[in-house]
Amino acid sequence: MKLYNLKDHTEIVNFEHAVKLGLGQQQGLFFPVELPVITSVELSKILKMDFITRSTEILSYFIKNEISKDKLYDCIKKAFYFQYPLKVQIKNNIGCLELFHGPTLAFKDFGARFMAQMILSLNKNNESFTILTATSGDTGAAVAHAFYGMKNVRVIILYPKGKISELQEKLFCTLGKNIKTISINGSFDDCQKLVKEAFDDKILKESIGLNSANSINISRLLAQICYYFEAFSLISEEQRKKLVISVPCGNFGNLTAGLLAKSLGLPIKYFIACTNANDTVPRFLKNGIWQPNQTVSTISNAMDISQPNNWTRVEELFKRKKWDIKELKFGSVSDDETKKTLHELFKIGYISEPHAAIAYRLLKDQLKEDEFGLFLGTAHPAKFKNTIEKILNNIITLPQALKNRINLPLLSHNINPNFSKLKKFLLEK
Ligand SMILES: *Cc1c(COP(=O)(O)O)cnc(C)c1O
Repeated sequence: MKLYNLKDHTEIVNFEHAVKLGLGQQQGLFFPVELPVITSVELSKILKMDFITRSTEILSYFIKNEISKDKLYDCIKKAFYFQYPLKVQIKNNIGCLELFHGPTLAFKDFGARFMAQMILSLNKNNESFTILTATSGDTGAAVAHAFYGMKNVRVIILYPKGKISELQEKLFCTLGKNIKTISINGSFDDCQKLVKEAFDDKILKESIGLNSANSINISRLLAQICYYFEAFSLISEEQRKKLVISVPCGNFGNLTAGLLAKSLGLPIKYFIACTNANDTVPRFLKNGIWQPNQTVSTISNAMDISQPNNWTRVEELFKRKKWDIKELKFGSVSDDETKKTLHELFKIGYISEPHAAIAYRLLKDQLKEDEFGLFLGTAHPAKFKNTIEKILNNIITLPQALKNRINLPLLSHNINPNFSKLKKFLLEK
């Protein structure tokens, strides 16, 4: 598999390098040189396969012979050992694709666990390296758990202090061992900027073997393509003809993966890109002007991102496929509307959480009568227990994964959003 740097098309790397590097020169993201397309015959064949076998097929269309199918199958089996996506019927023509049944209760387990398997299997000489990543809430936990206890790997996770839920924090800041966490006195965008600065520092990068693990790593995106096919396999022939998918977006990795699934040949009618008040993309799609505002805190905190990294990949894909960007539907939902929507869902018997509720709101409002819609359930409601209990006035029970961590002490360090402070930490700890 060959990939090029979106900022410098002459930088071309193979899959192994793209996974190891995370980002290319000038902080450019990697994008596949070839966009494979499968026939409808192949599609119906793979739709009948089980999730692991099918995912192996899908990923080998992209990765090709750089990793053998057998090896890929083993990695995928280890990565996706938990319960696969679930489709829950909400209304006649609407379902939720629940992606939060992994060990850290968010869809990010898919990407993070597959990436960990890839990094591990590509590290043939057992070199030591450091994973540095920024999280707006859920990536941190998924990455931390995916690498926890692995030899030769040090994981450092930056997160905005006080801007993630208490339970999200407990899930990854209590692990210790090879997992180090730093709360940053700033926003997620500040954390993301620090990560980019570290990657720009060539000497630092080489001396500690730096690798990134947020949604910019191509292996995470590829892994996420798989559950769109699973979703398709779970619905009826009739529903397949008019499928609309609504995606709650932060860094736009999940949407990019969905679009790659479509590009590969999955007949999805259209997507809805959903944001909270951090609506850089919806405003851009409306008026063509890219104008990120200051990031604001919302109850859907994992989407509190005003400079989404993956947007350049979305644009590149539309360009390469000659798709019209107008085919991408969009919208933003305020906290007030999100709360109302949580009530609305609760009344019809479904307890959701703020991120998925945003996707449900826009799907419900934009879906036409003859269409079938799926919105992505990106996190388990228990991760936002306090918020949801207050909104719904109803007790949320904690799954075991969270119960186990709730009383453990936080092990995080704290620094200001200052690169030299971070650098010192990276070199010393
Ligand atoms: C990360 C996250 C999102 C946003 O996903 P992106 O791929 O960054 O767009 C949405 N919801 C939840 C719960 C998340 O953790």
